[in-house]
Amino acid sequence: MPVHQSEALILRTYKLGEADRIVVFLTKDRGKKRGVAKGARRARSRFTGALEPLTRADVAYYERELRDLVRINYVEPLRSPLSAIDDVTSDIALGHVGYFAELIDEWAPEAHADERLYRLGASVVEALSGRAPVDRLARYFEYWLLRLQGVYPSVTACAACAGPLEKGAVMAPREHVYVCRGCAPAAGGTSISAEALRFLREAAAAAPDRLAPLALSAPAGRELETAHRRLINVHLEKELKSARVLREMSQGSHGSEASRVRR
Ligand SMILES: [Zn+2]
Repeated sequence: MPVHQSEALILRTYKLGEADRIVVFLTKDRGKKRGVAKGARRARSRFTGALEPLTRADVAYYERELRDLVRINYVEPLRSPLSAIDDVTSDIALGHVGYFAELIDEWAPEAHADERLYRLGASVVEALSGRAPVDRLARYFEYWLLRLQGVYPSVTACAACAGPLEKGAVMAPREHVYVCRGCAPAAGGTSISAEALRFLREAAAAAPDRLAPLALSAPAGRELETAHRRLINVHLEKELKSARVLREMSQGSHGSEASRVRR
C-alpha cells in the first residue's frame, strides 16, 4: 500500500456508516481524491477541526489497489479560513467558503494534478484568512477559475466586431461572450459597465490578497455576479447549491434593490 503525503485543500465531507466520514480533497500534486477518515465523527477524533471546507492541510493517505477511495492517515491543518470569520460577517463569509469549495470540487478533475487550480484555491484561503473583501474576492475567484478552464470570454475586445470594450459591454444571452453596445442584441443581454470590465482587467494581474485597492462599486459587482452566474451555469450545466444559498442570503440583505438588479 503506497503512502502519499501532500498539501491539500479540504473540499467537503459526508457521513459514512456510524463513525466515519468520506473526505473530498484537492491535493497539490495528484488532483482530487476521496478518502475515508476513520472515526472522524467520534467526539474525540484526531480529525476534529481539520475537515472544515477550504482548510489547507498536510494530508497523508494510502491508495488501495482497485479502490477509488483512499484511506486517510492524518490531516494536519495549516490554514483555515474560519479563523478570520467573526460574528458580524459570519453568515456571508461562511456561505462564500462553501461556495468556493463547491466551485473547486466541480471543476477539479479526479486524480489528475492541476497545480494552477490548487494555487488559486490556496491563495483564496490566504486572502480569506487576511479578511479580504469577500464580494470582490468572489468575483475575482470566479473570473480566475473560468480563465484557468479556458472559458472566460475576452474582456478587451468585442466578440462580434473585435472593437474595444472600453465603454462597457453586454454579455450576449446565448453565446455568453462580451460584445460592444453596437453589436449587442436588442434584448436579453446582461449589461456590463466599463468599471466592471476594468476590475477584471486589473484582477488579471493582481494577487487575491491585493484586492482592497481595486475599485468595484456594489452595482458593478452585481453585474459581474450575474454574468459569472450565467457562465458558470452554462459550463457546469446546473446551478450550484451554495450559489443559490448565497443569493438568497444577499437578497435578504439588500432587499428589493437586489431583486430588481438580478431579474
Ligand atoms: Zn462589436
